[in-house]
Amino acid sequence: MHRTTVGTAGGLLITSGLLLGAAAPAAAAPSDVSAKSPDCSKVKCVALTFDDGPGEYTDELLDILEEHNARATFYLLGSKVGSHKAEVRRMAEEGHEVGNHTWKHDDLATLSADEIKDDAERTDEAIAEVTGEKPRTMRPPYGSLDDTAREAVEQPIVLWDVDTLDWQNRDVDKILDITKDETADGSVILLHDIHETSVDAVPGLLDELKGDDFHFVTVSYLFDGDLEAGTAYSDARSG
Ligand SMILES: [Zn+2]
Repeated sequence: MHRTTVGTAGGLLITSGLLLGAAAPAAAAPSDVSAKSPDCSKVKCVALTFDDGPGEYTDELLDILEEHNARATFYLLGSKVGSHKAEVRRMAEEGHEVGNHTWKHDDLATLSADEIKDDAERTDEAIAEVTGEKPRTMRPPYGSLDDTAREAVEQPIVLWDVDTLDWQNRDVDKILDITKDETADGSVILLHDIHETSVDAVPGLLDELKGDDFHFVTVSYLFDGDLEAGTAYSDARSG
């Protein structure tokens, strides 16, 4: 597999897995932008990711995604799962991916290997109790990683290449501008469904990207299962 390295804000190196010659998922007509299982080797695919939930706007977001026939990935905090079981169950039932975003948003670079493993297990179990499946991928809070964390985390680590800065700008137009400017085939887009403005931006974002022939798939689908534990990925760009 071809890899490139890109820097994070903290100056740490991460690798970006690229999809080359991977087995094609179930075939779909390239022109069918509403297909649930698009062939991402033939059409443009993107993964919308929502961190830090579930929260009070998550159910509304799930309605929006359902209306647009879009799949997304939710990086959940384990501590919030118990009070939002219905939403978490719905995510899994409606074909979204449920990922691990730690128990309560600790910076992994400040924790020991044992603390990271305990946190991951507790969070995985809280999610699996509701969805019946352990998360396949994890996202570290703040995108913060060190070598200890890389070795301690069991799942592939998924970062992002399009940062909407939604937590900061709280502005639908700015979220749409950033997404339009920065999204490319294979992008992973970072959003947070705990903010009302972020959820409000999603219908426009889906319409805009659909107009550019993008298909909305889960992270694991985007990378076509070609992900390794202890490796951090920011996009699934080929070429
Ligand atoms: Zn977060």
